[in-house]
Order: sequence, then C-alpha cells, then structure tokens
Amino acid sequence: MANKKTDHCSFCGRPASETLMLLKGLDAHICDQCVKQAYQILNEEFGLSEEPKRKERSGSSALELKKPQEIKDFLDQYVIGQDEAKRTLAVAVYNHYKRISQKVQDDEVEIEKSNMILVGETGTGKTLMARTIAKMLNVPFAIADATVLTEAGYVGEDVENILVRLLQAADYDVKAAEHGIVFIDEIDKIARKSDNPSITRDVSGEGVQQALLKLLEGSVCNVPPQGGRKHPEQKMIPINTKDILFIAGGAFDGIERIIAARKSTNIIGYSTAADQVLDKSNMLQYLAPADLKKFGLIPEIVGRMPIITHLDPLDAAALKRILTEPKNALVKQFTKLFAMDGITLTVKDEALDFVVEKAIEFKLGARGLRSIMEEILNDAMFELPSNSNVKTLVIDRAYAEEKISKNIKLAQ
Ligand code: ADP
Repeated sequence: MANKKTDHCSFCGRPASETLMLLKGLDAHICDQCVKQAYQILNEEFGLSEEPKRKERSGSSALELKKPQEIKDFLDQYVIGQDEAKRTLAVAVYNHYKRISQKVQDDEVEIEKSNMILVGETGTGKTLMARTIAKMLNVPFAIADATVLTEAGYVGEDVENILVRLLQAADYDVKAAEHGIVFIDEIDKIARKSDNPSITRDVSGEGVQQALLKLLEGSVCNVPPQGGRKHPEQKMIPINTKDILFIAGGAFDGIERIIAARKSTNIIGYSTAADQVLDKSNMLQYLAPADLKKFGLIPEIVGRMPIITHLDPLDAAALKRILTEPKNALVKQFTKLFAMDGITLTVKDEALDFVVEKAIEFKLGARGLRSIMEEILNDAMFELPSNSNVKTLVIDRAYAEEKISKNIKLAQ
C-alpha cells in the first residue's frame, strides 16, 4: 500500500492524498485515474470492449422497464402541474426503454426513436423534468446547452461534446452511452434568423442545427474522450447515436404570435372553424411542427424530433404549490436548515402568498421563488445560529414584507 503523505503517482504526479487508490509497483506508483485512462487506451487500441466480462450497465438484461404511469408518478413528486408534458415524456421514455430492450428483430418491425421537443416559458420546469427523469433512470443521461454549441471550426463547443458528456455519464461504457438520453436545453437559441425577425441571433444558428442533425439522424460520431476541441493526434471514440434519445427544450419566446397567426389564417380559410374558441391565455397548447419551423428550426430538425409537447405558464396557485409540495420544496429545505440549528421554522400561508405575488411582480416565475425566500430568511439565518434562546421562527406577511422592502436588488 502507498504512503498517503509522501507517495505520488509516477504518471500524473498526483499525491496519494488526492487519489482514491495509489498502486505500488517495483519503484513506481500508479493512481486509479491513470489506471482508468490506460484501460481506455487499451480499449481503443485492442477493442477490449468486446470482452464478455465487461459490465453491461444498460444492456437489455439490466434494464428495468418502468411503465409510463410509474414514470409520471415519479415526476409528480418533484414537478408541479405540467400534466400533458409529463404524460408525453413518460411515454417517450417508456418507448425508448422498449426500443432498446427489444432483443432480436425477427419481424422486421423496427420501432423508431421518438426524440422530443419541450416548449415552455423559462422557469416552468423543462430542465427540472429532465433532471428528475435522470434520477430514476438506469440509462446514462446528459444535459447540454445549445447556446454554447457552434459549427466545427468556430469558437465554442463542437456538437460532439454533447456525446462526451453522455460518455462520461456512462463511465466511458460506450455501449451504455449509445442507449442513453440527452437533454438539449435552449434549442430555440439556435433558431435561424431569416424566418423570424424577432430573433437577434446570427445565421450561424443554422450551421449548428445542421451539425446537430447529424447526431439526431443516427450516425457514428467520433468523440474526443476528454472533450474540448478535436485535434489530429487525439484518439477518438466512435459512438453510434442511432439509439440515443434526444429531448430538446426551449422557451421559443414569441412563438404564441406565430401560433395565433396560423390559427387565425385557418379560421378565415374555413368558415366552420370560426366557431372554434381559442384559449388565448395559453396558446402553446395549439403548438404544431409548422410553428417551430416558422420560428427558425430547420425542417430536418423538426422532422427528427417528431414529438412536441408544451409546458403551461405557472400561475399563482402553481407557484404556491411549488413552494411547499415537491419532495424537495423550498420551504421544506429551509425548514431543514433551521432544524439543524434546533429552530422550528413556520412559514404562514399569508407569507407564502406574498412570496408568490413578488415572484409574479418581478416577473421571475418559479426561478424567483428561491431568491425571494433567501432574502426574507437571510437575516434570521445569519443571526439565529448564535442566539441559543430562539427556538422558533414564524414568518408572517409583515415579516416577509419588511425584509423584502429593505432589499434594493430585488425591488429594481
Ligand atoms: P426551465 O423551464 O427554464 O428549464 P427549470 O426547470 O430550470 O426551468 O426551473 C427552474 C426552477 O424553478 C427549478 O429548479 C424548480 O425549483 C422550479 N420549478 C419550475 N417549474 C417547476 C414545476 N413545474 N414544479 C416544481 N418546481 C418548478
């Protein structure tokens, strides 16, 4: 065994204290990280991944098929509302499981992949939903941000880096990564400008979409194992994206106008449709692939992401539920923090209403709830741990109002 204080890895120089394990040779040491890397190199050179001993993390045998209702029930514990999106996502994920667990294709019926797009204002739970799904899955899962992607050769991240993250999530098990799920956030930010004058992004968005298309279509991509830009001497890992499920999310600001325009043209065109009553408060429910194209996604991308669903805007009632109901709701989190100091926190209903009013007033949506709660509780969180006499803290509306009115940052 290595001496934790003095020994170093002879390959990377890491001291023993920074390693999980340092193995001792004749007169050298090697750390767990370097063993891992060396194994990868062997893998690439001699195809060790074909070895039968290799762990099958998401091979069909290890796969536990979760029913759509179970998936939705799980989502319900963390995400408030958004029933339609949850149901659609649950079915897409369930079908993905079925697709990758089908063993032999004896009847020539090949189940096609169901990539999907989630459309909804920021802070309505798109990423939360993706993260929550990740919690319950036993397939590798990665989240990528479309805004940092660029076409090859430009400053920014190559599209293939999305797969690097997935590969890392799969502990470099290529087979597992090839069955994984990728969430691409802010897909609307790579919309092309020409079809949509309200978007201020330059035309290069289309180039990124083209690059992304390659992944969605199912192709073998060469991925630099450590990420970053590709360079000629680097060893690449080939990953086939045929069975990777892609879920994209975006706010698509202004798409309601596009939907409304399409709907009203339809109404003029067909007299019978004039009776149709549009719920103008939530136009997203009428979203169709054509609207995404009009917004600036290229038709090929829309075609490769055939399942579209929307998230509803969050009203006051939903925001209030978000404060208290989810498994890791904010109020539960703060209660736990205070309890750790022996203090019982009670947030009165009227105070919750106030927090919601402020989140709406500041146009912060669910994202704002946390900063408002922090602001209200910050003084108490600072002072009470040093004051052993205080055992309870009750937040009523007056208390919350006073703390927020003092705050210039939020009030602006
Ligand atoms: P986006 O739709 O922009 O991806 P997020 O999922 O990142 O939004 O939401 C931001 C935060 O707001 C989440 O971390 C969560 O705390 C809260 N939130 C948003 N929507 C919901 C929801 N429907 N249910 C519970 N919490 C939510």
